[in-house]
Amino acid sequence: MGVIFSARRKTGRFELEAIEMAVRSAMHQAGAAALTNLLQFPIPAADQRSLPCACGHQAHYRELRAKPILTAVGQAHVSRAYYLCPHCHHGQFPADVELDIENTEFSPGVRRMQALVGQEVPFDQGRQQMKLLADLEVTTKSVERTAEAIGEDIATREQAEIQRAKQLDLPMVLGEPMPILYVEIDATGIPVVKKETVGRQGKDGHPARHRDVKLGCVFTQTTWDSEGYAIRNPASTTYVGAIETAEEFGKRIYLEAWKRGWSHAQKKVVLGDGAEWIWNIADLHFPGAIQIVDLYHARQHLWELTRKLYPNEEAEQRRWMMTHQHMLDRGDIENLVHALRAINSSASELAESIRTTADYFETHAQRMRYPEFRRQHLFVGSGVIEAGCKAVIGSRCKQSGMFWTVNRANAILALRCCHINSRFVDYWAARRA
Ligand SMILES: [Zn+2]
Repeated sequence: MGVIFSARRKTGRFELEAIEMAVRSAMHQAGAAALTNLLQFPIPAADQRSLPCACGHQAHYRELRAKPILTAVGQAHVSRAYYLCPHCHHGQFPADVELDIENTEFSPGVRRMQALVGQEVPFDQGRQQMKLLADLEVTTKSVERTAEAIGEDIATREQAEIQRAKQLDLPMVLGEPMPILYVEIDATGIPVVKKETVGRQGKDGHPARHRDVKLGCVFTQTTWDSEGYAIRNPASTTYVGAIETAEEFGKRIYLEAWKRGWSHAQKKVVLGDGAEWIWNIADLHFPGAIQIVDLYHARQHLWELTRKLYPNEEAEQRRWMMTHQHMLDRGDIENLVHALRAINSSASELAESIRTTADYFETHAQRMRYPEFRRQHLFVGSGVIEAGCKAVIGSRCKQSGMFWTVNRANAILALRCCHINSRFVDYWAARRA
C-alpha cells in the first residue's frame, strides 16, 4: 500500500485497478493468516488418543502433522492429529474428514471454484479464471483433477440412483400437474484418444476418432403463440448425457423424465431423429407417449434423395421437393411412400437409396402426422436437443486439440449437466452430509 500511495504522490494518478488488486491481495494474506490460526488443532486429550480403525483394531495418536491448504483467501496451513494403526499401518486424520480436505490440498471452497470453471471451459482457461477472479494460483492439472474427481462422484451417485430406479424404488414426484412434458434425445460425436476407438468402425471408411455422447433433455410446455406454435417454458430444460450404450442411456433419461414429473404430465411427447435406438428407448421406457420424428430431419431425407435423383439440376430438385415435401408436411406418409416406391431406377445404387428412403418414411409414418401434432400445438422439431448438443457438449468437449477418454468425458459431462440443471448446490450439500 505504501508503494501505491507514494506512486500516487509522485505521478498524481490514482490507479484504481492496481489498488483494488493490492487491497484484495492484502486481505487474502490477512485472511489466510487467520485461517491458519484457526486450523491449528490441539494435541488430543489423554482419553481421545485412540480411534477405531477400519481393520477392526485401534489406531493410536502419533503426533501433530501440518499440511498446506489452498483456501478461498490463499495459502493456509492446517496442523492436526495423526493416528496410526499398529496392526494394519493405516494412518488417519479425523480433522481432515471433518474439514472435507481428506487427500487434497484444496479447501472445499477452492474445489468448488475449480469444478465450476472446469465444467465450463478448457482446464487451462479455468486456471486463468481462478487467477483473475479469485486471485488464486492453481495449476491447469489441478483444475482438471478436481473437476474430474467431483464429476466422477456425481456420476457414481447418479448410477446408484439409476440402480434404485431400476428396482422401481422411485419416490413419487409431487407437484402441479403439467400440461405437456417433452423428452428429446440425440447423439453427437466428441474426439477421443486412440485407445477408445480400438475395434470400432468409423464413418465413410475413415478410422473412428470420435465416440458418440448420447444426450437427452426434458422440458415442459404450457402454451403457444398467437399463430399456434409451441412455446417452451423458460428455464424448464434439464439435460442428461454420457458416452454409454443405448440400454444404459435409456435408464438415465427415464430417471430424468421421472424426476421432472413424467408420471403426472397430462400429455407426454418423445421427439428425436430417425435413429432406431431412440425409438427403442421410447417404446421401452415411455410407452403411451406421442412419438414425433423431427420434421427437419425428415425433410433432409427427401433433399438427399432428390440430389441423387437429379444431380446438378437444381430447378428439377426444387420442383420434386415441392410436391414430395408437401406430402410430408401434410402427414400424408402413405402416399409419399407410395410415390417413392413408384420411382423407376435401373441404377442399383440409386434404387437402393430410394428403397431405404421409402423404408424410413414407412417405419416412422405414425411419428410424422405433423398436422395432427400442430393441431395440438406441439413441437415438431427437435431444435432444443440439437441446441443442447452444441451448448452442453460441443462448446466444452469439441475444441481443437481435445482428446477425451470415455471416463474423463463422462465425469465432466456429469458435472456439467449437474451445473446446467441447477443441481450443483444440492449435490454439494448432500455430499457434505
Ligand atoms: Zn488398522
